[in-house]
This record gives sequence, structure tokens and C-alpha cells, in this order.
Amino acid sequence: MKIDQSRLQKEIDSLALITEAEPPVVTRVLFSEADLRGRAFVKNLCREAGLVLREDAVGNIFARWVGLEKNLPPVVTGSHIDAIPNAGKYDGVVGVLGAIEAIRALKKSGFQPKRSIELIVFTAEEPTRFGIGCLGSRLLGGVLSSEKAAQLKDRAGKNLEFWRKRGGCKGKLASVKLPKNFYSAFVELHIEQGPILEREKISIGIVEKIAAPSSLRIYLTGVGGHAGATLMPGRRDAGLAGAEISLAVEHAAKNSGSADTVGTTGIFRIEPGAVNSVPCRAYLEIDLRDTQVKTRDAALKQIEKAARTICKRRGVKLEMERVNVDPPAICDAALVKTISEICRAEKISSKIMISRAYHDSLFMAEVCPTTMIFIPCFKGYSHRPDEFSSPAQIEKGAHILAECLALVASR
Ligand SMILES: [Zn+2]
Repeated sequence: MKIDQSRLQKEIDSLALITEAEPPVVTRVLFSEADLRGRAFVKNLCREAGLVLREDAVGNIFARWVGLEKNLPPVVTGSHIDAIPNAGKYDGVVGVLGAIEAIRALKKSGFQPKRSIELIVFTAEEPTRFGIGCLGSRLLGGVLSSEKAAQLKDRAGKNLEFWRKRGGCKGKLASVKLPKNFYSAFVELHIEQGPILEREKISIGIVEKIAAPSSLRIYLTGVGGHAGATLMPGRRDAGLAGAEISLAVEHAAKNSGSADTVGTTGIFRIEPGAVNSVPCRAYLEIDLRDTQVKTRDAALKQIEKAARTICKRRGVKLEMERVNVDPPAICDAALVKTISEICRAEKISSKIMISRAYHDSLFMAEVCPTTMIFIPCFKGYSHRPDEFSSPAQIEKGAHILAECLALVASR
């Protein structure tokens, strides 16, 4: 079995040119014109590879290589092609285009799968459009209800129904959820998005656990006024309340008692946004994660408590919303072992590790036994245009994925 490294790299480069931004910057927000063109590009490759295509009501794309025993639960792989603003070309894409190449290589080798092998291109792994990540896989795993999903709105107030129509999705959202054990296994190939594999010169990471993400939205309403005429003692500055809350996030993450707690205020907007005007409103989005749910939840409560105290003291009205509070995922020990053994047999170095970023795998773990294959990326950079994995690193990842799919599909 031979992965065609140069064909795969050409396809990665081609997909990177389908972007809302000026290349090399990649931006593909869910169901934007670039995202739709990217989806068409991938569907075309799947068709050329002889895969049977289907799309569900939220736009998850399924491409199946039908196995000899059609009634057995298929083995499935996949990732995403949407990209946050100002991103690079490897996040998600390696797991989609790498999987197509893995399937093509297996087909060319003459392999016949007993179980069907399926690729999923998940809808909106990135939270850019609706503020919630992994929209497609959350619905597949039943972690997000169709009623709640229907209420999602983007910044312009356009709801999921609007965007679903734009994306050409058909059917009811309630039909997206998959029954438990619909698949026999899920394996996602992905760049590490961290520095460990590169630093330790290891080719493959095998994920045993995915950190528990959570996020908060905070709306602050103070009292605006002229920056010259409103004296300091009477001010109810929503911007300053937001600034203090951001510091409280840092404090809670640093003092949680777990070295794995990370807290970030990634969105912070103030209104009216004029140099001579006291901010009357502020909007924050906060991301908080940990490998342990206990310390994560304690830090989350501490942030919420701090926000209440700060706003009370400053006379600022506070509205707080938990967008998601997810548990960590424990990966399937048997799958982790299988991939370790494949790496050993192929004389490719590997390491068992934790994923600190979340992925669609977190929610596919609700459907079937799950793990991930990581490959190194330059300095651990991700979500930025200089994100990079070498063709040789990607080839190794696609190769191990192909071996794993073939093994599980034969069982
Ligand atoms: Zn990703």
C-alpha cells in the first residue's frame, strides 16, 4: 500500500486556495461561499474515488466505500474543512484529504473491506458562525438537541435554518442524531496543534483522552456618556467590568490546582467604540478547559462568581450564558493499542498523549469507540497562516490511518 504524497500535498494546496481571505491565509466560515466551494471540492474527490455520497440535515458529508458485508457497522474516519478567520491549511484538512488518500491507497492495493469504510466531513467544527464548536458532530452524537440547535443565531441574527438553506441541507435536524454503535469505530487524523511531537521527534501521537471544553458568553450593560463630561466617581463603565472579568478568568485558570486548566477571553467587544465615549456595553466570550472535569467546573464557578461581584460593585448589569460545558472524552483503549501496534510493526515512532484541543472526536465518542492519530506540526502553531506539517509527516499519518482502517474493517 502506497500513499501518494505529492498528490495529497497538491490537493491540500488546492483546497487552501479556496478561501475568503488573501492566500496563504485560509478562512472558510460555515456555509460561506468559500466553504461551499471547499465542500464541492472535497465531494468531487470522493466521487472520483468511487465513494457513495450522502449529506444529512446539517450538512455533514458522508462518503462510503461499501464493504463486502453491508450490514456490519462501518468503520469511520473524518475531520473538518471549515477554518477560522486567519487560519492555515492543515487543521482538519489533513484528516479529510488524508483519509481520502488513505482510501485510494487501500483501493489501489487491491484491499477489499469486510466492513464499509466511511469518511465524514463534519459541519462547523469551528465555532466562528454560531459561537459553538463541533456543531455537526454534537448533533450526530446527540449532545446538542435539534431544538437547541434550531435556536442558534450568528452575529447578524441569522439562524441555523437560514444557513442550512444556503448550504442546500435537506431534512429535519432531529434526523441527524446517530444511534449508539452505528459505527464500529471512529479514528480522526489531525495535526497535533501543540509542540510535543515535534520537540520529542516522534512521528505519530495516539490520543487516549480529549480535554473537557467549556465556554461562556457575557453581556454587560453599563451607562455610557461623554468621556470628558462624565466624572470618574459616577461611572458605570461596561468596558472596565469586562476587563476585570478577563483578569478573573486568568486568575481562575492559574489557581485551579490543575496544571491543565487554561482560560481565555478570546472575544471582547465594547460599544459604542469611540475614543471620547464611556463604554456602555461589553460582550465577552470565554473559553475554559481542563483534562479533569472537577477542576474545570470549579474554575468555571469561580469565574461566574467573580463576574457577579465585579458587576455589582461597578453598577453594571450582567447577563451570563453557558454555551457549552462538555465532559472530557476517554478514547477506546483497544483502538489505542491497535494503532500503537501498527506503528511498531511499521517502525514508525509513536506516543500516547492527551488532546488539549477539542475535536469532532469528542462527540463521536458518544456514538462509538473513538481515538485520534496526531502528526507533528511546526512549533505547534495552529489557527494561524504559518501552520505547517511536512508532506513526509502527513504521509506517515495517512499511512497509519490506512493501516488502521484496513485492520478494523477486516474484523
Ligand atoms: Zn481541527
